[in-house]
Amino acid sequence: MSVQSTELQVVAYPRDQVGPENFELVKVELGAPAPGQVLVRNTWTSVDPGLRLRLRENAPDGYFSSFPLHAPMDGILTVGEVVESQAPGFAVGDTVWHAQGWREYAVVDAGVAQMNGLGTLRVLDMSVAPAQWYLGPLGGMGLTAYSGLSVVNALGGGEDLWVSAAAGAVGALAAQMAVQLGHRVVASAGSPEKVSWLLDEVGVAAAFDYREEPPSAALKRVAPEGIDVYFDNVGGDHLEAALDAMRQCGRVALCGSVSDYDTDPVGPRNIFLATAKNLTLRGFRGGANFALLGEMQHRMGSWLRDGRIVHRETVYDGLASAPTAMNDMLAGRTVGKTLVRL
Ligand code: NAP
Repeated sequence: MSVQSTELQVVAYPRDQVGPENFELVKVELGAPAPGQVLVRNTWTSVDPGLRLRLRENAPDGYFSSFPLHAPMDGILTVGEVVESQAPGFAVGDTVWHAQGWREYAVVDAGVAQMNGLGTLRVLDMSVAPAQWYLGPLGGMGLTAYSGLSVVNALGGGEDLWVSAAAGAVGALAAQMAVQLGHRVVASAGSPEKVSWLLDEVGVAAAFDYREEPPSAALKRVAPEGIDVYFDNVGGDHLEAALDAMRQCGRVALCGSVSDYDTDPVGPRNIFLATAKNLTLRGFRGGANFALLGEMQHRMGSWLRDGRIVHRETVYDGLASAPTAMNDMLAGRTVGKTLVRL
């Protein structure tokens, strides 16, 4: 069958903050799926800081490409229900994930790799968790948090570890995993409410509000002996503070640098400390560690089931709300995973 769908298209790249004026809701007619394809009604779609990097004429080298103007926005993680299938292994009613988000319906090619595997059409096990958790702890966010700890050899526990943007989608999971793994975790976020949540529910040893106290001063207070591992979601002044606070042979998992996605990049001014202290600064992409997905889902599934990891979401309703959701998330007005329910 063919369907009428609505999708968001980029009409102008934002100069600073993202707003509804950068997008247009466009009605499109989708043809019936061809052999090897399925028609999916999307139910939840992801809102990620990395999308901001693709709302530029030139996305960073080696990253996903810029969203073209006046075209569907491909490469955004999404879950939905199969409404028609021409592909073996996918039945009507299956809940799936794929990478054609920010739209109501999508015709998706089965078996074609998307986003290093993370966005390849895949049937989800609905006995484990609600569908949208596959956009959070059981999907890309969980994989990013887990693989970040893995690439800096921090799955063993027993160290002093700082997570920034720790009330966000990846940060909240990284902080909680690190607590479960037996680290002493210090966390930072941008409001007193987030700091209270990190202390009271996430169970970190210490937390601070970087808007109230610069990270460099806060770390001297909450981790006076220094830190071994820094899970960096923020870059800029946070990374600079971490370099100051690192012990010899410390490791930094460079997950993202959200502090400069809307602005010109600000690098750390003390990079020589990496040499002086024999540090490892390790950039990584969750998708590049797709091989860890099964292991992560297994461990995360049991942490969630036992209530040892809590998952929070901030939900916006309707496709038209996606630009506002993104703006709110980048400004720190959301907690946990930011999602749009379609
Ligand atoms: P998120 O943390 O849910 O949302 C971003 C948060 O960053 C905001 O809510 C805000 O919270 C904080 N923030 C914004 N500007 C800031 C600033 N100037 N200084 C300090 N904090 C600031 O988003 P997420 O999806 O979990 O992503 C977190 C980081 O991971 C981002 O850097 C993202 O690009 C990265 N990431 C990387 C991968 C990968 O594969 N490497 C995958 C997914 C995400 P506050 O209220 O705390 O300010």
